Amino acid sequence: MQEKMQNCEKEKLVALTFDDGPSNITEQVLDILKQYGIVGSFFLIGQNITPDSRHILERQLAQGCEICNHSFTHNDMSKMSSEMIRDEIKRTSDLIRDTAGIEPKLFRPPYIALSDTMYDNIDLPFICGEDSRDWDDEISVQGRIDRVLQKAKDGSLILMHDKTDNLKTLEALPTIIEGLRERGFTFVTASQIFARKGIDPHVRHRLWSNVFQTN
Ligand SMILES: [Zn+2]
Repeated sequence: MQEKMQNCEKEKLVALTFDDGPSNITEQVLDILKQYGIVGSFFLIGQNITPDSRHILERQLAQGCEICNHSFTHNDMSKMSSEMIRDEIKRTSDLIRDTAGIEPKLFRPPYIALSDTMYDNIDLPFICGEDSRDWDDEISVQGRIDRVLQKAKDGSLILMHDKTDNLKTLEALPTIIEGLRERGFTFVTASQIFARKGIDPHVRHRLWSNVFQTN
């Protein structure tokens, strides 16, 4: 029993998170996760959820992955009024609920652009993450791998993108997963990482990149 508890305390957890889907590469990301028998969290753009992408959300849930909210239009929300902000969140959460039958529990701000009005009007915890910079096509496959492997620590949320045509991330992903495995990490969803570490993500004005961050 004691041994089990010690193992639990030492458990090194990491959450792979993917923004901007569903897209034309999301199913390939899911193929890779399935191949390694691991899960990830997908922060969806509401306007990308269509009848044609419904099967992708179903597959994400069937594989044990998490679906989260990444706004409806992916515009900079720091410039928006309370009403616009609420509309971005509600439309996306409604679509996810209607399409996949689950309630998104986490939010990632587009461009990590923030305002007090956003914190006042969005009830979901705000997630950032250790940035692989894979939104920048100039960053090579190896550059993406190196960034993730250097930045990952116990409790890290890793920020990547399953955005349209992001082929370098598809290429980097197997090496990233193998590298994290070699370093002893277990892969969980973003919500699971908070739950397994016993941390409540609902902290006002907190932008999470690692569940142990103190700023
Ligand atoms: Zn995004």
